[in-house]
Amino acid sequence: MKGVLALLALVAAVTSLENFSGQQVLRILPADEEQVNLVRELENYEDLQLDFWQGPTKPEKFVDIRVPFFSLQDVKVYLESHNIQYSIMIKDLQALLDEERRDMKIGRSMENARSTNAFNFATYHTFDEINNFIDNLVAENPSLVSKVVIGRSYEGRPLNVLKFSTGANRPAFWIDTGIHSREWVTQASGLWFAKKIVTDYGRDPSLTATLNSLDIFLEIVTNPDGYVFSHTSNRMWRKTRSPNAGSTCIGTDPNRNWDAGFGGGGSSSNPCTETYRGRAAHSESEVKAIVDFVKSHGKIKGFVSIHSYSQMLLYPYGYTTARVPDSAELDNVSRAAVNALTSLYGTKYTYGSIISTIYQASGGTIDWTYNQGIKYSYSFELRDTGRYGFALPANQIIPTAEETWLALTVLIEHTRDNLY
Ligand SMILES: [Zn+2]
Repeated sequence: MKGVLALLALVAAVTSLENFSGQQVLRILPADEEQVNLVRELENYEDLQLDFWQGPTKPEKFVDIRVPFFSLQDVKVYLESHNIQYSIMIKDLQALLDEERRDMKIGRSMENARSTNAFNFATYHTFDEINNFIDNLVAENPSLVSKVVIGRSYEGRPLNVLKFSTGANRPAFWIDTGIHSREWVTQASGLWFAKKIVTDYGRDPSLTATLNSLDIFLEIVTNPDGYVFSHTSNRMWRKTRSPNAGSTCIGTDPNRNWDAGFGGGGSSSNPCTETYRGRAAHSESEVKAIVDFVKSHGKIKGFVSIHSYSQMLLYPYGYTTARVPDSAELDNVSRAAVNALTSLYGTKYTYGSIISTIYQASGGTIDWTYNQGIKYSYSFELRDTGRYGFALPANQIIPTAEETWLALTVLIEHTRDNLY
């Protein structure tokens, strides 16, 4: 009887989590405009249930698509019949995710939940574990770190922001990770940044100087409902978890929900797509909380929103080809930041405005912050370039965080030294 119950429990645990067995990620290379349009047409076949990880954008630019097992044959035949070049990037997504689960179990068993010194940064963590880390960090560094709850997610979870500060009424630099929940290397890097800041303060002269003139705000789990859902139900969940009137599809893309070119190209009005913009700008409580915080703070001078994947450092705009007035300066700082990043492990990054570097995206975070007067607004796309995509192995977390921190340091120091 006991065995049967255990088996039933196991079946329940397994079935509640979406299975990606046999699913592949195809990397498609459209040769010309016509092929780009043919790939784009695949988006209209909703019953194929394709998940566009990248693109389509323009000729000669990769498109990465996660294809369910039952659609594989159709998609491959479609591509081959149109002579569109493709390769299999990930042969069996579930195999990668199984490995990720195993790593998490081992990684967790090695850490002590009571101290951030015994925290294992080389593994992925649940929302509860991250909140526990946050509370420990605050308890261990009460004169440097505090926790600010800037609001609640749709499902009522706290939107926790770490505040690193050594004095009152300072200008500030904002960093957020994980606004797209499945981009797990970003939240994991955020945890590493938090520990790095408390470790370096008082030891590293530059970071110490920074915190003697600037506050740093860090929101690690910017989309908590999505993050929890990506652990419990669907590892590939990107959006928020708020329902949509008149549709059975859940969630809004929180990086299309900002009041900057809201509703324009590169965002969707269809709630069933991954880039659904929401019913109105700032409809998502996770977005609105940051909007209210930025406005009420009034002295945020630098803002970085961190995504994955594709190894890019981006600045505004995404919704228009118009160049921002500070384009030359942002470009120079981005070059310096990317050079610093590459110096550590040779990881290659591209940089530029969002629309010229990836694609048009309307309603994005940093277009809004820039238009609010935050001159130093940037966005990262962390590792990798698609070999693992969103299923980046945990052994890449620390190198990713380390190299990204070098770039962040350039951005933060430039803001510190050029306060306006
Ligand atoms: Zn993203």
